[in-house]
Amino acid sequence: MITSHILGYPRIGRARELKFALERYWASGGDQNARLLHDVRCELCMEGWDVQRAAGMDYVTVGDFSLYDHVLSTLELMGCMPVRLRQLSCDKLASYFAAARGGSAGAAMDMKKWFNTNYHYMVPEYSSGMEFDPGDGRWLAEEIDMAQAAGHRVKASILGPITLLWLGKERDGLLNRLELLPGLVDAYVHLLSLMLARGVEWIQVEEPIASLDMPDLWAGAMHAAYDVLSRRSPRLLLTSYYSFPSGCFDILCQLPVSGLHVDFTRNFRLGALRCFPRDMVLSAGAVDGRHVWSCDLSATARILDRARDMARLDDRLWVSTSCSLMHVPVDAATEAAVSMSVRPMLSFAIQKAGEVAALKIRLTHGNAGSAISHASPSRSFKPAVGFGTEDLQLTPRRKLGYADRARLQRSALGLPVLPTTTVGSFPQTPRLRQLRVLLRRGSIRLQSYMGAIRAEIEHIVRRQAELGMDVLVHGEVERGDMVEYFGESMDGFVITRHGWVQSYGSRCAKPPIIAHDVSFVRPMTLYWASYASKLTNLPMKGMVTGPTTIVCWSFARRDQSYQEVSLQVARALRLEVELLGSSGVGIIQIDEPALREGLPLQRAMRRRYLAWAADAFGVACSGTSPCVQIHTHICYSELGDVLQTMSDMDADVVSIEAARSNMSPLALLRGFHKGVGPGVFDVHSPQLPSQEAMASRITAALGIVPPENLWVNPDCGLKTRTWEQVNAALSSMRLAVDDVKERL
Ligand code: GLN
Ligand code: ZN
Repeated sequence: MITSHILGYPRIGRARELKFALERYWASGGDQNARLLHDVRCELCMEGWDVQRAAGMDYVTVGDFSLYDHVLSTLELMGCMPVRLRQLSCDKLASYFAAARGGSAGAAMDMKKWFNTNYHYMVPEYSSGMEFDPGDGRWLAEEIDMAQAAGHRVKASILGPITLLWLGKERDGLLNRLELLPGLVDAYVHLLSLMLARGVEWIQVEEPIASLDMPDLWAGAMHAAYDVLSRRSPRLLLTSYYSFPSGCFDILCQLPVSGLHVDFTRNFRLGALRCFPRDMVLSAGAVDGRHVWSCDLSATARILDRARDMARLDDRLWVSTSCSLMHVPVDAATEAAVSMSVRPMLSFAIQKAGEVAALKIRLTHGNAGSAISHASPSRSFKPAVGFGTEDLQLTPRRKLGYADRARLQRSALGLPVLPTTTVGSFPQTPRLRQLRVLLRRGSIRLQSYMGAIRAEIEHIVRRQAELGMDVLVHGEVERGDMVEYFGESMDGFVITRHGWVQSYGSRCAKPPIIAHDVSFVRPMTLYWASYASKLTNLPMKGMVTGPTTIVCWSFARRDQSYQEVSLQVARALRLEVELLGSSGVGIIQIDEPALREGLPLQRAMRRRYLAWAADAFGVACSGTSPCVQIHTHICYSELGDVLQTMSDMDADVVSIEAARSNMSPLALLRGFHKGVGPGVFDVHSPQLPSQEAMASRITAALGIVPPENLWVNPDCGLKTRTWEQVNAALSSMRLAVDDVKERL
């Protein structure tokens, strides 16, 4: 019999219950809120298991839930929270959140993008002599007990030791974190024995490191670890995802584990299965967990059939989702407002579990009874507004090179040395959010909404002038989200009502869905940017989200290449950028914070992606005059991977996140010959940056970047800060710049 399961279920809840419970607890603490949080946790776990059971999964997945982040929860489980945060006298829950969010005991742990997704994980900190101890199995044991008590057949899920080490960083004199592996493996052995004692049949040990180009040293470590683990454990399902593990499939096949889970939806090579071991289970990640389109059951069943034959799997074939369903919303059935041309094609977590079950039925009984038709969104060609075909053939580059543009912009803008600016957004106050809710409900008229936004912009512009900023922004107060706003304003997107996915902790995003050809329909930011620019004589920087980021942070179509979709978006943005430029907005920032995130996991494919991203950016800004200064902003990046692209892109100035990583990105900027603004304070930390710290960061930057190229700005937008924090941080930033300038 074929076995069905999913790798994981969304943890935020269909009505974002986790978010609200977390925020209540953070705001007021207390035993009662802690109990409420615990109850919400139990309810969400139970609901997820019930959904899996009802859909017909043979196992329910236990262990994928987390109160903030599953990497942090694994560290807690293994008793290896960062040493610097261990001396806290507070309770377990409070110290868990102190590690995630910082507090009186010290700074939060670093946060990074999880593989090529828009989810963020907490970066483990390993120190020398670190010990691991899973105790009595902590929350995992509790959840297994809870699921079993509810009568579920349990497959436990844990992040594997190799990936857990890989994701972390060394501290306090530790030179090589692989040194810690033997101790960590012992702790896993202990944890596995606790699960064995509970009668857990299968353990999904996740090693997404296998989807990367795994260095030999780490592949060797994987072998050593699983040699030990498999001797002691119930059946291990070694699980990789986000890409078929082409580079190391042979290595995985040689591991002494009972089963392998691989992604069938990305870079899959059927032929690789020819040498699949005769004694292992193959869990086929056939239902795509990274997009929201329903699965073509017939085509997928055919591939699974061929896989079954090729590897002579018979009952050793399992059917599953490509990855955890944490990257898709909970239930497409609640999207009543989505048009009927699209709605039947949507598939969120609940529907995807259903698709896994349907595939199992097809593989068991053939095609009988499979009447549902599943199709991709149709291609509806719509010529891009305002362009002749010859325009679309233009090389996606601005007419003049950087040096010539820089000369023109210097005289057009007349900026001081070390110009200060911000990355775009100002506080999204509760009042602003409330206004948007009222507008959506129809409780206030559009005119009064717009009046309130204008008043907010006036305040933001005035404050920046008072704070001494050299280049102002309008504050992005008209947009609730930097991608959804553009999705709402262009043709081709579908906006969902409840389609939330977790970004980190309690933060969620509601990615728009690209369902048709994208085109420009009306100016999107022009009104607000030009309104703001008329309020002041200081230069105003317009704000547009870039094509790569819009596509990465949306659910894109499946029937078009990434390149086609991002070029369509870029063409629509090009009109916006052109309009902004010709209306007198002399500086325009085209944000690309998702540039690094979209990077393919395997190196061989990266060059092509980056060339497309630079082309799409070029298309977006190639319509403007060379006198208009184009900025871009990049954050959450390992900058080294995108540095060349940053300089290939047609931007004149790039702002990057730097303070949060201790200014380490500076080292890469030697030889970067354009304007650059390495952030001088971390916008995510509740601790206020001091003037001295900022001055020394600016001085450090001046050691690498020539003064005529250096900009001074925060790491990222200020929308999550309070006005009190913003006022204090920006006035210290101003003083820090003046201080450095005096010494120039
Ligand atoms: N301009 C955006 C902002 O300031 C950039 C956000 C981001 O980089 N994620 O909010
Ligand atoms: Zn940013």
